[in-house]
Amino acid sequence: MRGPGPIVFGFLLTAASLAAPGHPDVSAVPVLRQYLDHAGFNWKSKQVAHFHIFFEADSEAGRRIRELRRNLEKDRARVLMLIGEKDYEPTIYAFFLKSGEDMQELLGVNVDGRSRPVQHAVFSVVTPERLHLTHELCHEIVSNLWGAAEPWIEEGLATYADEGDNTYYDSWALLKANDLIPLERLVDPGWTSSMDSPDVTYTELGGFLKFLYDRYGMERVKAAWQGGSQSIPRVFGKPLDELEREWHASLLAQFPKPPIRHYRSAANGFRME
Ligand SMILES: [Zn+2]
Repeated sequence: MRGPGPIVFGFLLTAASLAAPGHPDVSAVPVLRQYLDHAGFNWKSKQVAHFHIFFEADSEAGRRIRELRRNLEKDRARVLMLIGEKDYEPTIYAFFLKSGEDMQELLGVNVDGRSRPVQHAVFSVVTPERLHLTHELCHEIVSNLWGAAEPWIEEGLATYADEGDNTYYDSWALLKANDLIPLERLVDPGWTSSMDSPDVTYTELGGFLKFLYDRYGMERVKAAWQGGSQSIPRVFGKPLDELEREWHASLLAQFPKPPIRHYRSAANGFRME
């Protein structure tokens, strides 16, 4: 018996024949050639509602493809709901890889996840613990709908979209341990994710974005996304250091006792970009 969804989305193709009846031939999409033609990879392909999926034979992704298909659609819907947008038209090309080494070979960088919004391409290493693409889809969708943003808000929103309320527990733990980095360092157009430990900065920015969203709403987050860090006093009516104090006070008020969970379990992955 087939899984849920229209039967038309069930084609299984090989790299030699990436066109299915009624679907565009992805091998004709110029930006994908560099990945599809890469000598180190023999891609299998599947077309689903909003995605074209590529995965390797004999891979975790191949074995979990039904689950991954469902997750992709759920993750896409989660991002759209979070940012208050109704729809996102472009087909997204999702590449599932076996390892960071494969990512190195394909993209030249050893990471667990990467998105290239201009190409509508997302890349993710699939393991039993890594079966969602919310973080990368947030970059893909929000960068294309709202425009590219400064790294602090790109990573903060993507981390919050993926990890939700956990970013708050984890930020609280970092605050109590005195491990938070002053926001004036991160919330700056010149900051990049390679400058500090991502197990601190991604959690911290994710928790800060949750705070901005909860207290000030997504419309103002969108304005800061589009206006950059220099727009913060205008958008929120107060400077960054005042927002930072409000955020810390909110963390301490919500968790008067230590939360049960430790911040950033290894399963979340530390090297998302
Ligand atoms: Zn990212």
